[in-house]
Amino acid sequence: MRKQIVAGNWKMNKNVQESIKLANEVVANVKELALNNTRVIVTPTFVNLSSVLKATEGSAVEVAAQNMHQAKSGAFTGEISADMLTSLGIKTVILGHSERREYFGETDAILAEKVNAALENKLEVIFCFGEVLEDRKSENHFNVVESQIKNGLFHLEASAWKNIVLAYEPVWAIGTGETASPEQAQEMHAFIRKIVANKYTKEVAENVSILYGGSVKPSNAKEIFSKEDVDGGLIGGAALNANDFVALVKSF
Ligand code: PEP
Repeated sequence: MRKQIVAGNWKMNKNVQESIKLANEVVANVKELALNNTRVIVTPTFVNLSSVLKATEGSAVEVAAQNMHQAKSGAFTGEISADMLTSLGIKTVILGHSERREYFGETDAILAEKVNAALENKLEVIFCFGEVLEDRKSENHFNVVESQIKNGLFHLEASAWKNIVLAYEPVWAIGTGETASPEQAQEMHAFIRKIVANKYTKEVAENVSILYGGSVKPSNAKEIFSKEDVDGGLIGGAALNANDFVALVKSF
């Protein structure tokens, strides 16, 4: 059975003290919950991974990285490899976030390499994709999403998909306060599951968790998460406040 996941992407927010404080608050609040089939993930910036790993040690809260480089090692000043992440104890990495695609020139081809490098290092990948507003307006959103998934992931063997989580994040809904309606999210998630089933098998499609991301907050999470093919959320702004984030975890 696929898992429900609430993953908080802290982006370039929180210094080390603030990160530890937020992690401690999340841990304390999550402790009370019977999480059953739900995973809770926080994603601090690289420099705060170790501190947050320590703060969450022994708790149900997992820690993921926001990005990594595709090369094993070498002259890539300022970059972080998959091995560096796993050697810290990180088990999951976000790849393909729209901010990485837009501001850092990450193409589908680069992302396919990053996915390979992550999987080779036994990292689970939360793979992000989603259309911009013009694509949605011109009704090209299904094509865009299909091509991002195809180019980034469809070279993988079916067996690799146990380490893939999908995150549909319409760019027009990220950090804008604009949310896809629960029906729009469900429609796209069902489409994604269909293309994965067509490429692989129904079993692969049924087992992959598909998260929705884009201005999810306590006031709209319940309705979005209740949709059949929505298995949780990738959360930006609301993940920076422990009460809001934990309220999202409670929304299932
Ligand atoms: C994100 O950046 O992945 C995101 C969903 O951000 P927000 O929740 O702030 O829209």
